[in-house]
Amino acid sequence: MPCRRRAARPENIMDENMPKTLSRNLAARSARRRICALAAALSIVLPCTVVAAARVTVLHTNDTHAHIDDGYVSFSEIAAEKARLEAAGESVILADAGDHVQGTPLGGYDSGRSVIDIMNAAGYDVATLGNHEFDYGVPALFDNIRRASFRYACCNFIRRKTLDDPGTLVLPSYVVVTAGAARVAFVGVTTPATLVSARPSTFLDASGGWRAYDFISGERGEALYAAVQKAVDEAAAQADCTVVVGHLGVSPDSAGCRSIDVIAHTTNFVAFIDGHSHSLYTGARVRNAAGRDVVLAQSGCHLGILGFLTFEDGRCVAAGTVFPRGERNPEVARLEEQLSDAVNRQLGERVAVAPADICSCAPGTADRLVRREGCSAGDFAADAAWWYAKRHGFACDMALINGGNVRSDIPAGDVTLKTLRTVQPFGGDIGIVEVNGRDILDALEFGAKTAGDAEFGGFLQVAGLRYAVDAAVKSSVQVDAAGTWVAGPSNGVYRVRDVEVYDRSKGKFVPLDLHGVYRVAGSAFTLMEGGDGFAMFRSAKKIENGMATDYLVLAEYAKAFKRGASGLPSLSSSASPLSELAGYPLAYEKPAGAGRIAIVGRAGAVAD
Ligand SMILES: [Zn+2]
Repeated sequence: MPCRRRAARPENIMDENMPKTLSRNLAARSARRRICALAAALSIVLPCTVVAAARVTVLHTNDTHAHIDDGYVSFSEIAAEKARLEAAGESVILADAGDHVQGTPLGGYDSGRSVIDIMNAAGYDVATLGNHEFDYGVPALFDNIRRASFRYACCNFIRRKTLDDPGTLVLPSYVVVTAGAARVAFVGVTTPATLVSARPSTFLDASGGWRAYDFISGERGEALYAAVQKAVDEAAAQADCTVVVGHLGVSPDSAGCRSIDVIAHTTNFVAFIDGHSHSLYTGARVRNAAGRDVVLAQSGCHLGILGFLTFEDGRCVAAGTVFPRGERNPEVARLEEQLSDAVNRQLGERVAVAPADICSCAPGTADRLVRREGCSAGDFAADAAWWYAKRHGFACDMALINGGNVRSDIPAGDVTLKTLRTVQPFGGDIGIVEVNGRDILDALEFGAKTAGDAEFGGFLQVAGLRYAVDAAVKSSVQVDAAGTWVAGPSNGVYRVRDVEVYDRSKGKFVPLDLHGVYRVAGSAFTLMEGGDGFAMFRSAKKIENGMATDYLVLAEYAKAFKRGASGLPSLSSSASPLSELAGYPLAYEKPAGAGRIAIVGRAGAVAD
């Protein structure tokens, strides 16, 4: 089972911790459905008053990532839930905190257009932009925004006409949604890290010389806080209740521009509906700049569950999650099935059988190992690029794949093109560059800045290479405000060490030569486009640009495995074409992979 299905399983949520005062708010009107409030677990104590005129419930999603036909909750169930609450006399607003058009083959099928149609039909009222809304390029972004019947808000996405232009906002900084007697203002905000998580070239003007599109952030987030405050103050004058809907998250690698940083430096709004870090928290309380508590909520990812916040007379009186089951809005369901069928027709070809899960996440969890340590899906994706390059006449010393480009497990069982497109849904290219050993060390060091501890999409999975990360050494790699690499560790101490390259002629690993020249295959996003901020590759010699689309490289590698009992290639280590290489470590059957990346120097760490 792919880990995306495991996101925010309702079974993990502690109903018994739901305080009676909070549970009554929704339980009374949806007794048949399972309602889960985490508020008690998060020590929220909110006053519960009798139903007031200006009462409204905001249902919220984030990071749905086009999980149309494999999430726990479908958009058609969300639509039915909204209608049910409205039929019971509730005022309901449906909001999304970004990253909705990209992440599975269903999103990539038509650059997100069908996802927008489904969200329109589901009754969304308001959304902000996630970083992945930019993955299909700016023209497609604007097409999707125009297509949406819900309204987008973003107070920090700007367009510049010239290099010196301070820029103007592209979208309204806030929208006011009226539901019943309540007027709720939603201020939108998007992570400035979008500049490097999408292809950095996305934002450049036609000459490629300067950023025509940008995100207000400031060196340490100060301009972002000012932009949010300005929008909030304008919005508050128009509404009874002001909420920020932000795609910022709480990950350490976003420090300065996280939801909790924005709350700590601003005032005048009651709640923050968050996204981006795929976290699940409902009704956490965070102190704002005036010392008041703001309610912070994020509802996991991949439609694992639906969050809600209830406001009365401008105050948040309940927070929690709801898990609508069964009942589906027929029109939305029809659109979901239509899209799912189209993708199954396009990508239904069976290419192999996996005898065991090839893992990007820790087994049974949504914990994305692939972004902070070695794992079998990371090995598999890097091996595929390494093998493919050689197969097509470009023998490479190694391959590097950014962890953020391995989005799912390959579940045990039949492997179709759709399975592989789910692993690598972005349709990115595999390319080849020539770089020196120092650049490789710097790339590994940058990728490993939070390794072993927290996620980073730029964490590098490897083939033909192995390395260790000393987690006891704090990263001092130097980056700019957008998160782009500037230089190696400021104190000269690397946490990456013992970097070794596989030598085919000797059948063993030998130390990386910092002055040597190496050919590297891998994600063009990382090696050629500066994605995730890999600026050390800017001067790399380009050998082959756009050799093939990544998921098709996975497919060709899979088809090269020896056939098993089913008659199809069997994705076991011993059946891999790379098993012929003496001493080359393969362990697709183990979730942690072949141990090419050793995390050392932390409690419980194993050196190899
Ligand atoms: Zn995101």
